[in-house]
Amino acid sequence: MEIQIIEKYENILTLLIEGSVPSLVNGLRRIMLAQVPTLAIEDVWIVKNTSSLYDRNIAQRLGLIPLKSEMKDFNFPDKCECEGVGCSLCQVGFTIDKEAENENVVVYSSDLKSEDPKIIPAEPKIFIVELYKGQKLVLEAYAKMGIGKTHVKWQAVSTASFKYVPIFEIDQEKCKKCETAPCIDFCPRNIIIKNEKNEIVIDDKLNCSLCRECEKMCENNAIKVCWDEKTFLFYLESNGQLPPDQIVLKSCEIFKKKVTDFLEKIEIQA
Ligand code: SF4
Ligand code: SF4
Ligand SMILES: [Zn+2]
Repeated sequence: MEIQIIEKYENILTLLIEGSVPSLVNGLRRIMLAQVPTLAIEDVWIVKNTSSLYDRNIAQRLGLIPLKSEMKDFNFPDKCECEGVGCSLCQVGFTIDKEAENENVVVYSSDLKSEDPKIIPAEPKIFIVELYKGQKLVLEAYAKMGIGKTHVKWQAVSTASFKYVPIFEIDQEKCKKCETAPCIDFCPRNIIIKNEKNEIVIDDKLNCSLCRECEKMCENNAIKVCWDEKTFLFYLESNGQLPPDQIVLKSCEIFKKKVTDFLEKIEIQA
């Protein structure tokens, strides 16, 4: 299997995967969604809450704030030496202390003060609650390691999807070079164009959705759209806890361990 980076932004990664099969690529996708560990707020101690939201609503909102984890190795609470009591190896503490003294104020994710400067909200402007004049919110919160399979708040990616890479066959002899070409008009991705020789060509084949509208709309059967069953375009978007390339590496590591464990179990039974 060969993996090539097509596009990379802060939270987005597009990969070209060649020489694989859908089951393997889908296995990797499912690991990204459900198995990559991250930190998320799990315990909340409300000291004072006179806002219009119930304590449990505030706790739920805090849990869903993605926390930059930088792959720092924390223990899972049930595997830590403290036996789940909570220590610096398995949790990070946060506090909020905000009051609307003279005017209404909004409590944002940036109001979460972390005891570890590396573990902070991925975005500063995530809305938590608005405090009206005279209201106050004081709390302690503890982030712990978990995986998306347990709760979506630990999910490292908002999107992980893949599709086949299309293959186009354009028969320039059959093509009548229609003046108002339906193949161009009906392409939802606007990737069919005429080149300088007035020939129909595909401008950006990786952007094709494989809808095959161009094929259906051409009365002369000049366009054929198919795909390579061993080549995939993989798209993932991080929620902000981890950079997307680290999510891919961690997913591959988890995948490899699962396969090794499985093979060991088979050998033991044989
Ligand atoms: S619709 Fe068919 S014949 Fe017309 S320009 Fe497109 S490919 Fe050519
Ligand atoms: S298959 Fe759909 S998206 Fe792809 S080129 Fe044809 S019309 Fe455009
Ligand atoms: Zn611990």
